[in-house]
Amino acid sequence: MKYYIGIDVGGTLSKIAVVNERGRIVAKRIVKTPISNKNALINKIVQASKEILSEKNLKRKHIKAVGVGMPGAINSEKGIVYYLPNIPRWKNVPLKKILESKLKIKTCIDNDVSLMTLGEFCYGAGKGAKNIVCITLGTGVGGGIILDGKLYRGATLVGGEIGHVPISVGGPKCNCGGWGCVESYIGNRYLMNRLRRELKKNRSIIKTLIKKKRMKLSLELVDRAAEMGDKYAVWFWKDFGIKLGTMLTGVVNLLNPERIIIGGGVAGAGKFIFGPVKQVIRKRAMPIQAKSVRIVKAKLGEDAGVIGAAVFARLNGK
Ligand SMILES: [Zn+2]
Repeated sequence: MKYYIGIDVGGTLSKIAVVNERGRIVAKRIVKTPISNKNALINKIVQASKEILSEKNLKRKHIKAVGVGMPGAINSEKGIVYYLPNIPRWKNVPLKKILESKLKIKTCIDNDVSLMTLGEFCYGAGKGAKNIVCITLGTGVGGGIILDGKLYRGATLVGGEIGHVPISVGGPKCNCGGWGCVESYIGNRYLMNRLRRELKKNRSIIKTLIKKKRMKLSLELVDRAAEMGDKYAVWFWKDFGIKLGTMLTGVVNLLNPERIIIGGGVAGAGKFIFGPVKQVIRKRAMPIQAKSVRIVKAKLGEDAGVIGAAVFARLNGK
């Protein structure tokens, strides 16, 4: 059996896993991501990788390659991190070279959502398809594209930014420098601001839960309220689904994918989101494209990133 190390660096937590050639996780470790300084983060993942190997009695020679997903703009060919929007002080870092010198194992790096997409494509909700689009919902709205069975990266390797497809001519300012991007309507930060604003004006069980049960306002709470039949909460997610569906209509028309895979924290409210998303696509997308696409939930959950990173290592680490 051949083994790979898959690493998924997130803005808060990072995951390090040993994955076998069949995409199965043999050992996994979750650590807090040090964001205050670059070397601390690098040392942490190197140390965790070494620990996980000795824990499983694996030697360096058992590991064919290491794959790393980073949350930002990456040049996967040169192995350089251009920048990470949520982790400061990362500018043009030759991470591949640094990790190879420390780990002494062939290493390749890429964008985290691209690798998640690769994981879902090989072992998850994208299995068996050739053209898929993956979207992750969270603080940021990320995307990955597989066309004709291959990860699509674009001219300078930073394509797939689905969260920054505008859905309005004007609209709110977005973190990316643009405005009216779908992320500025359905990203977690925007949703929380909207909730605070709208709850002042609307009747909702959410307010009762916060006051009487001392619960904290969160998107999970809105999900719970929707489960309880709260009208405002159901409408909140419906509106979310309509916005997401509007953007995905463009994706469906442009790329004609077989499947669109939706994952990330907010996908927990899938029950209330998927209906409106499908409805909008059915209504607005061009008929042949609309008919051939399936909207599905991600399957690998939290593990998609490390599994995808290991697949990437297997494909590129020779
Ligand atoms: Zn944007």
